[in-house]
Amino acid sequence: MSFARPEIIRPPSEHASYFLPLTSGCSNNTCSFCAYSFSKLGIRELDEVKQEIDAMSLYANQRMWVAGQPDIVYLILRSWNGKKVFLQDGDALVYPYPKLIEALQYLNQKFPAIERIASYATPRDILRRSLKELKTLKEQKLGILYMGVESGDDEVLQKIQKNADHNQMVEAAKKVKESGILLSVTVILGLGGVKGSEKHALETSRILTEMDPDYAGALTLTLIPETGLHKEWKHGEFEMITPFDSLWELKTIIENSTFSNCFFSSMHASNYYAIRGTMPKDKDKVLKQLKALLSRKDLDMLRPEFLRGL
Ligand code: SF4
Repeated sequence: MSFARPEIIRPPSEHASYFLPLTSGCSNNTCSFCAYSFSKLGIRELDEVKQEIDAMSLYANQRMWVAGQPDIVYLILRSWNGKKVFLQDGDALVYPYPKLIEALQYLNQKFPAIERIASYATPRDILRRSLKELKTLKEQKLGILYMGVESGDDEVLQKIQKNADHNQMVEAAKKVKESGILLSVTVILGLGGVKGSEKHALETSRILTEMDPDYAGALTLTLIPETGLHKEWKHGEFEMITPFDSLWELKTIIENSTFSNCFFSSMHASNYYAIRGTMPKDKDKVLKQLKALLSRKDLDMLRPEFLRGL
């Protein structure tokens, strides 16, 4: 079956990257809140990846197009500054290791000025790789891995079928950090529902402290129609927290986490309120902001529902 190029879903910080698909879907397509739970993992042929890199190179050096390459390739190339590449898709680190190395070597050979290559990765993808392999990927400019942690609470992780527990995620995080690759993680406010809210927030602050990532982002749960969690909600088995409760979770997470040097933000479009700061330096300032918001409970201060995005 031929490889179907995935739509571009990327971390906000990768907006200036070239989006190079190695896979489609996600190898762990079970998470009950996620759009990828409908996906099936597709692995792209290495030859096809190389052909796209060749086409990129021809366009970058001579503004020439190659017949057969999709328009999206040239649409991205027109505004690409040649510095960053994001490997698609949901967990491109699952791409078979020897082929992944070869793809990165080829990319670096054609584009020696590339500064950083990035990818999403599941905890299992990371644990599957040895420290030596991660270091070799780092040498090939894999500079940052984005990992969805979602929650530090094992009960929540089990319910959403993350297929990784608290300790495995901490182990994966430590491995990434030891390899020298930057680690960026996301957690999801509201994922424990009303009943599990406090435990979700406290356990999430505990896992973040243990992981000590370089970047941490909070997202707010948005139910995607027909996902497992959406069905639970429809049947009354899962109760969504309120927007202000999500900000209480955010405050609790920040209050109880300790970081050595982490850029923490809730700037993702799914959130009701955006905060950002480098922890621990900005911790007090951010907490003050959230506490003021929570005491005023002014709905006009929040991002309106229709402007929230996934
Ligand atoms: S591992 Fe990540 S991308 Fe894959 S289904 Fe779970 S949340 Fe979605």
